[in-house]
Amino acid sequence: MNHKNKSILGPEYVKQFRCIGSSCQDNCCIGWDVDIDKKTYYKYQKFKEEDLMRLFKSSVHQNREAYSDEVDFAKVKLKKDKRCPFLNDENLCIIQAKVGENYLSNVCATYPRFTNLVDDVYEQSATVSCPEAARLILKNKLGLSFASETADLGLQTIIMYEVDTRISGQNSMINHLLALRQFSISVLQNRDYTLADRLLILGYFYSDLQKLTDRKRALDIPGLIKVHNEKIRDEKFREEIKGLPVRISDQMKIVSEIASQLHVYDEIDSKRFIAFNEDCKNGISGAKQHGVRSEHVKNYSDSYRMNYEPFMAKHGYVLENYLVNYVFSSLFPAGESQKPFEAYSLLVARYALIKYYLVGIAASKRGLNEKLAIEFIQVFSKAVEHHKTFLESIPSYLQRKKQNTLNDMSILLKH
Ligand code: SF4
Repeated sequence: MNHKNKSILGPEYVKQFRCIGSSCQDNCCIGWDVDIDKKTYYKYQKFKEEDLMRLFKSSVHQNREAYSDEVDFAKVKLKKDKRCPFLNDENLCIIQAKVGENYLSNVCATYPRFTNLVDDVYEQSATVSCPEAARLILKNKLGLSFASETADLGLQTIIMYEVDTRISGQNSMINHLLALRQFSISVLQNRDYTLADRLLILGYFYSDLQKLTDRKRALDIPGLIKVHNEKIRDEKFREEIKGLPVRISDQMKIVSEIASQLHVYDEIDSKRFIAFNEDCKNGISGAKQHGVRSEHVKNYSDSYRMNYEPFMAKHGYVLENYLVNYVFSSLFPAGESQKPFEAYSLLVARYALIKYYLVGIAASKRGLNEKLAIEFIQVFSKAVEHHKTFLESIPSYLQRKKQNTLNDMSILLKH
């Protein structure tokens, strides 16, 4: 592929990102599989340095379940303490130190950056699972803004999603993907409404969009966006949202059941996530279990009122930026699901989980601030986005429990 002079679109923070290496509190070479692409694997076979060759032979193995030669042709076997064996005591990569960054695998060279190809434009963002990226993304008080430029693409760029919105006529949701994403971001950044209300406005929209796509009426999507933009402008949603249900104990029950699918003690290696999980449970129920008895509901509601609500009034941009970054980088609503309302329910589930944990953690720590929230969201993202089954289990859980309507999303969102 020619990497020169490409159209690149992305949030402004991408250009500011620099890995902080040994100062990083949650190094990406700890706790995760390290993927090696085919070209890099064969480069490693020719290591002349004795220690690198020894580690290559003992720790790098071809991956029988690889999905791409460019990504995971081979894997590095982590040590018992879940550290990459190529990481030294100062948390620096010895491959980079000894033979240079040209020897990093595609994944190591590009993380935490995330690239999609939409039509002829390369879209670059980053994941909040990296602590330094999380700070850049989430601390932006003004909200994320996007810019395009013509520039060279990194030689080791991995394309996560590739979409052509111009194919197959005009009657597919994909043809309208860019307008749908733009509308979703504009609603999420509309600070005239609370973040929960912005998500509910999207709920009305994605509920109607699901009906349109069920009737194969994707051609009507531009009209649907126009109608909803007019309703937002005319403040029509305020009354409608008031009529949606609020059921706190059901909210706690659903969110804690979704959280239980994480199988924290069996499937999550992150000690920091496990500690946050303990804080959350202690804060709400004062015990090892997530609970929904009346005193737990009272603890949760008290912490929501005393900690979460004031935090959101002052620092609501943290969660807004998290959601906007997710919507942009996942090509929402098309990235994670073919069904628009299901994609929306995954967005709501992320927000509801983060809110639930922050309320519980704040109860335990007797307060919530920007630093703590950003730290939790980074740790949550690292645990959840790379969990092998968790995210895909959410839509089937909601469907099984018949909790996949707009009223059910309201129960997850409203207080
Ligand atoms: S997680 Fe981010 S800041 Fe930390 S070592 Fe990895 S790329 Fe660098």
